[in-house]
Parts: sequence; structure tokens; C-alpha cells
Amino acid sequence: MAWAKQVDFLVVGAGVAGLRAAVELADHGDVLVITKESVAESNTHYAQGGIAVAMEGAEDVALHLQDTLNAGDGLVYPPAAQVLVAEGPLRVAELIEWGARFDREGARLLRTREGAHSLPRILHANGDATGAEISRSLVAFARAHRRIQFAEWTTLTGLVAADGRVIAADLLDRDNRIERVSARAVLIAAGGAGQVYSDTTNPAIATGDGVALAAEAGAELADMEFYQFHPTALSLPGAPRFLLSEALRGEGAYLRNDRGERFMERYHPLLELAPRDVVARAIAREGMGAKPNETRVVDLDMRHVEAVDPHQRFPGISAVLARYGLDLQRDLIPVRPAAHYLMGGIRTDLFGRTTLPGLYAAGEAACTGVHGANRLASNSLLEGLVFGARVARAMLQDGLPVVAAEEPTDVPVPLTAEDDVRLETLIAALQRDMWTYAGLLRDHFGLLEGFASQQEFASGLKKLVRQGKGSRRLAEAKALSRVANAILHSALARTESRGAHFRNDYPNRDDANFQRHSIFNRSELRGETSKTRVVFETWQ
Ligand SMILES: Cc1cc2nc3c(=O)[nH]c(=O)nc-3n(C[C@H](O)[C@H](O)[C@H](O)COP(=O)(O)OP(=O)(O)OC[C@H]3O[C@@H](n4cnc5c(N)ncnc54)[C@H](O)[C@@H]3O)c2cc1C
Repeated sequence: MAWAKQVDFLVVGAGVAGLRAAVELADHGDVLVITKESVAESNTHYAQGGIAVAMEGAEDVALHLQDTLNAGDGLVYPPAAQVLVAEGPLRVAELIEWGARFDREGARLLRTREGAHSLPRILHANGDATGAEISRSLVAFARAHRRIQFAEWTTLTGLVAADGRVIAADLLDRDNRIERVSARAVLIAAGGAGQVYSDTTNPAIATGDGVALAAEAGAELADMEFYQFHPTALSLPGAPRFLLSEALRGEGAYLRNDRGERFMERYHPLLELAPRDVVARAIAREGMGAKPNETRVVDLDMRHVEAVDPHQRFPGISAVLARYGLDLQRDLIPVRPAAHYLMGGIRTDLFGRTTLPGLYAAGEAACTGVHGANRLASNSLLEGLVFGARVARAMLQDGLPVVAAEEPTDVPVPLTAEDDVRLETLIAALQRDMWTYAGLLRDHFGLLEGFASQQEFASGLKKLVRQGKGSRRLAEAKALSRVANAILHSALARTESRGAHFRNDYPNRDDANFQRHSIFNRSELRGETSKTRVVFETWQ
């Protein structure tokens, strides 16, 4: 073990939220930042389009707030959105001071526009590699701090609670050894869970571990039915579901169906720049396949765009497309939707406090209510910066003492090669069924099919767990199972359509009953016997 057994602050995740918090915390105590792989492997690193920020004064801030509220389809928690847009400019200015280089023309920062934004307010870096630049600059800034220690290739596998608060965490190293680390406060900044679906833009690390382990320890989850499906991921046999940023449509790209028609005019007045859920469902409807949510491809067309040189403006995307013999200026690019962003997550207050003392959350793993039922494009990098800074303040203010935790008793038995193959088969089946039954278009009976699949998956895992087996992949599988269960319960309970959650059997928005946030598993967490796993409540 290369790290201390006791630290002041344990930060799980080295994306934008975890790093921003770590920098703030390190002025007041020792911080251990853990990541499942290298520090560069995070959703943050892959973010392309940019970071939304209103840097032009009060009017700009007010418009950013309005756009965020509109995208969230009646479910954004306004105080959270107000914090995001009002504190955003300061956090971005600070990041620039710390070394982040956004694209400029002379001294002026360049801004682009994305779906559902009323103004061009998205800053970008190296054209379409904004996340990599934010990650690079924050990692460099954090590494220069002597009180921040990084533990790469280290996986959180459990949270330890005593006397009603989290006091420690179990960490699995790359040699499959578990060590327990006690901390004054533990921050979950472990990102999203796109890997719960077979089609996703998220990297392999995005298995919802933080969300699942927080729930297992007793924290409430909120709004888990709201998963954003990005409309345009590359769709080629054998190729990864590489994201084709909304900024392509921001610069004028069209969507065309298999008859070559520009179909978005039938769905929304903002055409290709309509909110993401609208565009994704329009694509699903245009190219409906035989099974639920099996979507044939549509095409992204940038051939007519003359105002920008797509190779210069989107160098990363152009390079990936070139590997498949495609060129934005010459070819139609085949696309279809993919799971992209978890709006729900671990329920927190406006300072990242979860419902479990000692445990905090920020970034994509958290649910402050800032995105409501649908995230406004490019608001999540900003969320990580703003709420990463705020959660650090709460972790400091709460002033909890370190409580030494007992040593863990179980030593995991490694999985055999046969176990590994079986595990991958189980995971692939769950991901496929989640896409089919809890994807873009949902209904009651489909969601029940999803449950059946998730229960089968869970019992397959139990066999391995009963034999005392343990590995990073098994821990990820358990997390996927828990996240899938939360999504299914929440989606079944919300018998309306809103934002990213669309029910074929309840196609309308129902404000009278459902302009409220879903809370998952409160009764079980409180030890009550009620079978109701989801309750709805208004946040004041
Ligand atoms: C392809 C793509 C493009 C995107 N483009 C944009 C964009 O242009 N603008 C925008 O605003 N948003 C964009 N997003 C969304 C945005 O990138 C993420 O929502 C945001 O970066 C999340 O930051 P985070 O700090 O919460 O988590 P992440 O950046 O995902 O970091 C999670 C961290 O947690 C670690 N971790 C996870 N589980 C464990 C565990 N069990 N133990 C230890 N460590 C763990 C990971 O290793 C990683 O370090 C995009 C996302 C993707 C996938």
C-alpha cells in the first residue's frame, strides 16, 4: 500500500469535480485522490464541445439560468441552477488563471452555441478537446500541491459507516488487495454510469460505482430515471460509440433520414438544435427498428457548411472519422443515440452534503437538481467546477473528526478465467436489456422485462460473491446491478413523460402529480418494510 491509512480527506475520482475539490481542500489538510485507472481516464477527459459559462454580466447570467430551467423541463431545482450560473464565471476565470487554455481569437475567448442555448456561450479548447485541456490543467495544478497524493489504478469498493456516519472506505489496489482508509470526510466524485447501457459515449470506467456504493451505505439517490441519451454517436459496425459533439450541429450540421430528408422540422422549431432528448427521440422515431429502442442510423451532414473549416474547428473528431475513411466535408456521417449523462445520482444539498453524514458528492455522481429532467449542453463541466469548490467548503466547515476504522476481515479470492468470461457475458446481457427496456422509449411491460433481466444478473453475481470472490470487475458489476435497479424502479414509478424520461404508455407531462423529484430507496434505507422503493417530493 502506497498511501496513508488515515487522511483528512478522501476524494474518489480525478475528473473535474474531484480535482476542483481536492485543490480547495489541500489548503487545509492532507488529501488522497483515488482513480480507477490513470488520472487521464475520466468522462471529463473525453468532453469535447465545451463548457457553458455566462461571462458577459448579469443579463447573460439571467439568460443562462433561463436556458437551464427550460432544458430541465420543469424539474430543475432553481436555487441549484442559480448557484451554477452565478458562480460559474468566477470558477472559469480561476481555472484560466491556473493554466487552462481555451481557444481565442487574439485576446478574445471564442464561444460557440449548442442545443437549447439562446446565445453562443460555450468556451472550447483545442477545437473539440475541451475536457482534455481542463483535465490537463487541473491535474498539473493539483500535482504541484504537496498535500495532495494521487493513488491511480485504485478502486473504491465499499464505504464503512459507524454511528450513523461514514468514517472510512475500502480501496482495492491493482494487485487485488483491499486496504481500509479512514478520513474526516469522503467525497464521491466518481462520475456517471453510461456503462449500464450497451450503447454509450462513456468510457469503460463509467460504471456508477460511487452512486451504487453511496446507496449501499445508506445515502438517498434522486431522479435516477433521468438518463440523457446523446443523439449523435458514431454508428459503424465494430467502431466504438464515439461522440459527435453537438457543436457540429451548432456550426450548422443537419440530420437526414434514410430518404435524405432533413426531418427535424417535423419535431421542433429549433430543428437540429432542439433539446437533446427531443433530437434523440426524433432519430429513434425516424429510424425505428424491429425491437424497442433498436434504432437504425440516420446521417449527420456537414457538407454544406462553409462558414467554418470542420477540420480546423474539430480536429479530434476529424482525426477519428478519418480512421474510418470518413470526412466531414465530403461524407454523410452515420449516427444514432447513445447513453451519455446521468442527471440523477446521490442526492445532495447545495454544498454537496449527502443524506449520510461524512459522505459528500459532486459532479455527475451527485444530484443537486441542477439539471432537472434534462441537462443543458455543456453545463456539466461547469457543474463539476462550481460544486467541486462548494463541496470542499462543506467538508471543511462540518469539521468531523477522524475515527479509526477496524481492519477489513475479508481477503478477496481472485476470479478464475472462467469466472471472468461468465461475468462479461452477464454484464453484456444486462447492458443490452437496459438499452432495450429502459432506454430512450419506455413502457410498463418493458420495464418489467428489464427487472427480470436485472434480477437474473444479480443472482449470477451472488454466486461469485458467496464464494468470497472479488475483483475490480466484479465490484463494477455489482454497481451496474444496483444502478440498473434504481433506474428501473424510478422509471416505473414516474408514470409521465418529462425531459429525458419518455413513457410510450404515458406520453404527456403530468405536473399535477410529478413535478417532483424521485427519491430512491428511502424506506429500505430507514429499515422500514414498505415495498415502495420510490417516493416523490418537492424540493423547497
Ligand atoms: C464523450 C463525452 C463528451 C462530453 N462532452 C461534454 C462537453 O462538451 N461539455 C460538458 O459540460 N460535458 C460533457 N460531457 C459530460 C462531462 O464530461 C461529465 O459529466 C463530467 O466531466 C463529469 O465529471 P466528474 O468529475 O463528475 O466525473 P468524471 O470526469 O467521469 O471522473 C470520474 C472519476 O472517478 C473515478 N472513479 C470512478 N469509479 C471509481 C471507483 N470505484 N474507485 C475509484 N475511482 C473511481 C474515475 O477513475 C475518474 O477519475 C461529456 C461526456 C462524454 C462521455
